[in-house]
Amino acid sequence: MSLTVTPDSRFAAKVFPSPNHGERKFRDGGTARRPDMLILHYTGMPDAGQALQWLCNPVAQVSSHYFVFENGHTLQLVPEERRAWHAGASHWAGETDINSCSIGIEIANPGHPGGLPDFPPEQIAATLNLCRDICERWSIPPERVLAHSDIAPGRKIDPGEKFPWRHFAEGGVGLWVEPAPMRSGRFFARGESGQPVEALQAMFAMFGYGVAVDGVFDEKLEAVVAAFQRHWRQEKVDGVADSSTITTLRDLLALTQASRTA
Ligand SMILES: [Zn+2]
Repeated sequence: MSLTVTPDSRFAAKVFPSPNHGERKFRDGGTARRPDMLILHYTGMPDAGQALQWLCNPVAQVSSHYFVFENGHTLQLVPEERRAWHAGASHWAGETDINSCSIGIEIANPGHPGGLPDFPPEQIAATLNLCRDICERWSIPPERVLAHSDIAPGRKIDPGEKFPWRHFAEGGVGLWVEPAPMRSGRFFARGESGQPVEALQAMFAMFGYGVAVDGVFDEKLEAVVAAFQRHWRQEKVDGVADSSTITTLRDLLALTQASRTA
């Protein structure tokens, strides 16, 4: 393997290599898997430099393709054609080896453990440029630009409910509909069961979430609802499927189905 000296993206300043990567898994026909998902993370560590060192430490067994500092300075750690180790046990739209089919970006931010500080504007601008470039070069569809929390609900909550997904969609990255207004009415929460819960699970599963369609609103479904809210209905993240959450999900589903049949 030749040493990559030039970043794959013109928005990365330089290569800062991590040893933590492997071969993207092959499809049945022997064709190399090309990335068609983009996964965003926060580092969740108080210090960006320490987070970067960890992602480059062979002991860690974790990495990402790109790393974006608070000031927007961007490094490439793993070549895009290689399989970086950022997703872990994950699921989306039938895929479970998300590392093989995705590109991962780590955004330096202390995260929920550090009080979830705002992402600085310079960092957001740099990340948006990088994402747009990756999506264009690899033809990644908007509905496959996702949070780590979307593909691993219950296990991961990054990049968190302060991540500006609306701004990204306005900049051409990711899927967005205006969240339906919060209002009182019928809602579904942990402990309930029955046909309406099953219908709700079917909607989440159709959208891509790894959710069992068994009619039981358990802890796992609660985590999926919270993950959805963290991304698409950020005003209130409580794992309760209220009418605003369900309507927003329905609108997003309609949008993806319209684009698939277009
Ligand atoms: Zn993550």
